[in-house]
Amino acid sequence: MNPLVSDAFVDFLLSDVLDVEGLCALPAFSAHGKETIGPWLAACRRVAREVLFPSYRAMDEQPPRFEHGRVTVHPKMHAAWKELVELGVIVAGRPPEVGGQQLPLTVATLSTAYLMAANLSAYGYAGLTTGAAHLIEAFGSADLKAMWLEKLYSGQWTGTMALTEPQAGSSLADVTTRARPTDAGHFLISGAKIFISAGDHDLTENLVHLVLARIDGAPPGTKGISLFAVPRLRPAAKGLQANDVQVTGVIHKIGWRGLPSLALAFGEEGDCRGWLVGTPNQGLRCMFQMMNEARIMVGVNAAATASVAYHEALAYARERKQGRPLGVTDPTTPPVPLVQHPDVRRMLLRQKAIVEGSLALLGVTARYSDLSEHATDEETRRRSKLLLDLLTPVAKTFPAERGFEANALALQVHGGYGYSSEYLPEAWLRDQKLNSIHEGTTTIQGLDLLGRKVVAGGGAALLALQAEVQADAARARAAGLDVAPLARALETLLTLTATLGARGAGGDLEGMLGHSADFMDLTSTVVLGWIWTKLAATVAHRRDDFAQGLLAAWRYWSVTELPRVPALAALCESAERSYLDLRDEWL
Ligand SMILES: Cc1cc2nc3c(=O)[nH]c(=O)nc-3n(C[C@H](O)[C@H](O)[C@H](O)COP(=O)(O)OP(=O)(O)OC[C@H]3O[C@@H](n4cnc5c(N)ncnc54)[C@H](O)[C@@H]3O)c2cc1C
Repeated sequence: MNPLVSDAFVDFLLSDVLDVEGLCALPAFSAHGKETIGPWLAACRRVAREVLFPSYRAMDEQPPRFEHGRVTVHPKMHAAWKELVELGVIVAGRPPEVGGQQLPLTVATLSTAYLMAANLSAYGYAGLTTGAAHLIEAFGSADLKAMWLEKLYSGQWTGTMALTEPQAGSSLADVTTRARPTDAGHFLISGAKIFISAGDHDLTENLVHLVLARIDGAPPGTKGISLFAVPRLRPAAKGLQANDVQVTGVIHKIGWRGLPSLALAFGEEGDCRGWLVGTPNQGLRCMFQMMNEARIMVGVNAAATASVAYHEALAYARERKQGRPLGVTDPTTPPVPLVQHPDVRRMLLRQKAIVEGSLALLGVTARYSDLSEHATDEETRRRSKLLLDLLTPVAKTFPAERGFEANALALQVHGGYGYSSEYLPEAWLRDQKLNSIHEGTTTIQGLDLLGRKVVAGGGAALLALQAEVQADAARARAAGLDVAPLARALETLLTLTATLGARGAGGDLEGMLGHSADFMDLTSTVVLGWIWTKLAATVAHRRDDFAQGLLAAWRYWSVTELPRVPALAALCESAERSYLDLRDEWL
């Protein structure tokens, strides 16, 4: 049975690396400790392994159907939804006032990894609902909260995020969906949205779209975008009535096939009612709350999708016999399991380094999120927020981009069988591709990292990261590990950032941002070097297999990945012009 995610690794992260006990000493998390977190993790593992994973293949093979204007999900999704609702995963991280248990995000991040690894589409309905409800909780009026919050957090209804339009994908400044005020307090919404995940289904009686739109007369660009809650069925004198939201098409996707992504038309008949969430023209600011959470969740999804495939590849490599060890030519000797071939072990170790490195990075990022909100002193909150903001684009992008590579390696370990749909790695590879596209493409994350997170604020976030890296490097050095490659890579990152920042300050934006993709690659490589050093320092004194595995992955990252840093820095620094000068006529 595929474990989906390693229990031993998650337990180790929570207790030995992320100091969850320390987190639970904070007043906000005082209801938690081993006695609540253990059962919570056990419940997530059970639902993931016994309910969600067994329905994954069927949901991939038979995507939701769109007939007569409505979407019908796979029958197995109904049972999965019931279990997810009973588990309480939609509201787990929210405070008791709204029915939650205020679970630290650090714990929620690692526990949802099991659910996502098991069946990412099934979990998708819940994740979107949490995000939508949290927006209403944070910015909605008392009336809106009274009307919808409980319905969403209890899983009676679901939620969506409806940002993208056919002409406005990465560039949300170009959103044109319109909102006309009325005297009755609601707005009349009209416009088209595309790719809206879980935008319709027959799982619950109703759903609420969190829609970006422009109030008539609003300024152009991002400064004129507002946020609205638009239900599929709206409150009426008696119960609910249709709210003029039509499904106009379903996207035929290569992955995430259990979750419908839809084209929606709002107000085709002139009577789609939406309720303002937050203040006018502040919609994107509000939406960023959901998007930042969603970015971390996309990272978790990517790590989880790579994890389930890694465990599948590992089991296959231990079982499948093929060929003989290097140097053995006698054909009468028995063939050996794939895992005995060094190059297969290379592929497995690389997957382990990406999967476990990503999970640890996400745990560390989530911990900064917890501290940024709930630490008792102002300085820890401020510093944690700086680090959270800096790491969010990396925690989204590294697992997505390198996770895709890990998923490809899992398929490769299966040889020709991996290339067939009888085996699951091809499905996970298809699923994984989305993670570098939604919630801000890799390009957009690279621009955000370099332009906003690193250079803006005078580099304060990077200096905070430097201190974290140096503290873990010192622990590792004291434990006898060679941290010179990490120290050199960090120095290169700091020097490069100063150079690029000076270019930006001088008005040379192309010189600063032209290689933002390489800068993201470089920063991610250094950050993962730090994360692996943190893990290695924690187990350096141990001799057991678990510890040896982590030390092997740390060594692997130090000797194969960190040496790439100077080459990437040279590209960024020289503002190498191969594609900057390229004309589209030459392609
Ligand atoms: C399966 C799926 C589910 C989705 N679910 C949702 C959902 O629930 N809600 C929702 O609102 N949206 C959803 N989306 C939409 C998703 O967020 C967008 O697809 C994404 O933002 C990219 O927009 P786009 O597809 O228009 O691509 P484009 O913005 O056209 O980008 C195309 C390419 O150009 C690059 N590019 C774009 N602008 C720039 C620039 N300024 N500089 C450099 N490069 C640039 C991009 O990086 C990308 O590689 C979903 C998409 C998919 C595929």
